[in-house]
Amino acid sequence: MKQLVLASHNAGKLVEMQQILAELPLQITSAAELGLGHVEETGLTFVENALLKARAACLATGLPALADDSGLIVDALGGAPGLYSARYAGEPSNAQANNAKLLEVMRDVPDGQRSARFYAVIVLLRHAADPQPLICEGRWEGEITHAPRGHHGFGYNPVFLDPVHGLTAAEMEPALKNELSHRAQALQQLKQQLAGLL
Ligand code: IMP
Repeated sequence: MKQLVLASHNAGKLVEMQQILAELPLQITSAAELGLGHVEETGLTFVENALLKARAACLATGLPALADDSGLIVDALGGAPGLYSARYAGEPSNAQANNAKLLEVMRDVPDGQRSARFYAVIVLLRHAADPQPLICEGRWEGEITHAPRGHHGFGYNPVFLDPVHGLTAAEMEPALKNELSHRAQALQQLKQQLAGLL
């Protein structure tokens, strides 16, 4: 059984990862369980921030480390809120305020120009100086609505429309979102790549 550390303090992410990777001979422990501190996310891309978090966890534990980063990218806004998705409307992080700000900023953007995607990256560093990390990505294409719809989940779910299903992420049953989402895609890639490594 190989031990990995997940460089996240989010208990929900740990459970989700343990469930999806359950068939693999892995023991995944979180940064919170190991008492690791928070890492400043100073990178300018999602992958840089994930690598910073994973490297810090490798250095602190001597174990291989997984880390993720994700956010919403809106084409009409040059990629915003992007890396700053969690705190788009300021500190402390507030999903309702973020959604309200996004809808206001997008108010005059016509249909047809409201494309957006959720993006997630998960990286695995075998050790702090690993020059060839595993990098797994997922993208979920959609559009920004004109008003919030639905109550499931978190974050930008109510304003992110999947045009194929005609539902926002917050109107979907969690099982459907978990088939389509950026995070699910990245996790499935990670599962395949890890299975090849073990
Ligand atoms: P992080 O990857 O935990 O840092 O998440 C960054 C931010 O992106 C979250 O706080 C949300 O605002 C947004 N986000 C990422 N994934 C989702 C999602 O699946 N639904 C809604 N919002 C999301």
